[in-house]
Amino acid sequence: MKDFLQNSVALRLLYKMVNGQISEVLPVIGLEDIYYPILKQISEFNGEEGKSFLEKLNLEGYLTKHVYDKVYRCPKCRSMNLRPQLLCPKCKSVDYVQGNLIVHYVCGYIDFEERFVKPDLTLQCPKCGKTLKQIGIDYSNPGYAFKCLDCGEFFHFPFERWVCRVCNNAFQLSEAVVEDVYSYRFNEENRDKVKKAIFYVEPVIKALKEIGFSVECFCELKGKSGSVHMVDILAKNHSKELVIDVEEKGEHSVTVEDTLKFMAKFLDIKTKGS
Ligand SMILES: [Zn+2]
Ligand SMILES: [Zn+2]
Ligand SMILES: [Zn+2]
Repeated sequence: MKDFLQNSVALRLLYKMVNGQISEVLPVIGLEDIYYPILKQISEFNGEEGKSFLEKLNLEGYLTKHVYDKVYRCPKCRSMNLRPQLLCPKCKSVDYVQGNLIVHYVCGYIDFEERFVKPDLTLQCPKCGKTLKQIGIDYSNPGYAFKCLDCGEFFHFPFERWVCRVCNNAFQLSEAVVEDVYSYRFNEENRDKVKKAIFYVEPVIKALKEIGFSVECFCELKGKSGSVHMVDILAKNHSKELVIDVEEKGEHSVTVEDTLKFMAKFLDIKTKGS
């Protein structure tokens, strides 16, 4: 890739980061892709292009990357569109119910509370017929659990697996393909270099804003020939659209005064010409 300081998307992004409009480029994890909303605003990159663009900015030292999250993909088709499935750990049925468990120590019978409750609200074991007397002595109440209606198993923790919504593959989380998702921050080590490359437009932008223009920096415009040119500034108000390339004057940057003079001339020409 050509030098990033000649690349309009990179310049637009770095400009926003250097002057603090964006502190971090954050991802959005969708059902099928991972994308960076800021890149959608300033470029036409799709999710994959955006990702590799940020990777290159990282490799070139302009951005640092940080693990923001992890995504899990189907081991068969790599889709992220997964749903959980909780099953009976013994027979893998999905036909189970939850209830409040009672264990009768005297005969070893286990079932949900409602199977023990009599109309007078005392508890009686449906297996041995004895009345339950004192919790912790002749019976216990280990809390809520599941009962499989296919095989009768009681369990606290269902067997968990994931099903791919795209190819219907079912697998355990340990079999999924795990991928780090990154966020990106400006690499402060390169602040001076980037500032030098970018901030020559700043006084012009300031001046344009002061006289009521909305301003976009480092835009790509398509010329009549169809070729794309990058311009430093595209400024618009209700009636005019200005395309401005800022010339650097040797060591010195352009002053606000220079800009206003230039603007006055430009607007004058426009008015006369129209
Ligand atoms: Zn799949
Ligand atoms: Zn079962
Ligand atoms: Zn019993």
